[in-house]
Amino acid sequence: MSIKLNMENLLREVEDLEKKSITGEKVRLIAVSKMHSTDEILEAVSGGAVEFGENKVQELRDKLEVLPEQNFHMIGNLQTNKVKYIYDKVRLIQSLDRVNLLEEIDKRAKSSNIVVDCLIEVNIAGEEQKGGVAYNDVRNFLEKCLEYNNVKIQGLMTVAPDTEDEKLLRDCFKRMFKLKEKIKNNYSEVKMDILSMGMSQDYKLAIEEGSNMVRIGSKIFGKRIGR
Ligand SMILES: *Cc1c(COP(=O)(O)O)cnc(C)c1O
Repeated sequence: MSIKLNMENLLREVEDLEKKSITGEKVRLIAVSKMHSTDEILEAVSGGAVEFGENKVQELRDKLEVLPEQNFHMIGNLQTNKVKYIYDKVRLIQSLDRVNLLEEIDKRAKSSNIVVDCLIEVNIAGEEQKGGVAYNDVRNFLEKCLEYNNVKIQGLMTVAPDTEDEKLLRDCFKRMFKLKEKIKNNYSEVKMDILSMGMSQDYKLAIEEGSNMVRIGSKIFGKRIGR
């Protein structure tokens, strides 16, 4: 099994799946490289990967030092005191889910005179152990975000429940899609172009239900050892 081949096959498959999507939109593939080496990342690049996802600030910093020209997304729980290390170095912060984090990103961005693109992470199934804004609180939180000029919301992100129950997964993805559309229709000033959902287990369903950004790790890099 080679990372390069996995990546090539996956890109082809995602392109096929776009035809089954309710939107027909192009789908961006984020290769989730957490716990994998910079050599493995370069192998994925040779297979066509252009964007990478990391969930730990220190690991992300280490990789950026070696691979400054690669595009990284922050996809994991982000502690407020670590924002300063990455806010100006990532393409997208996908895990914005609380006001103190919003304030910190905005403050740092303002001091650098930049705008940081973020997604609001939604806890779609109300799972206690997970981060993300509760489904019913998303619009309130979005309105809060609009008060901050140096954070720009580009869409929504979710991590679906870890289950093989296809009906439940589809239901989560459908609710996310509807939420995104509703926000898009009700807030002309918000972009809401990105719907980031779908991982190795569930990306097919997610794309069918309107995801236009999937975050895939083990299907490309193999199983992660450890956590
Ligand atoms: C690890 C991770 C992924 C990728 O998971 P796989 O099952 O390996 O595809 C996607 N999104 C987030 C937020 C993750 O932490």
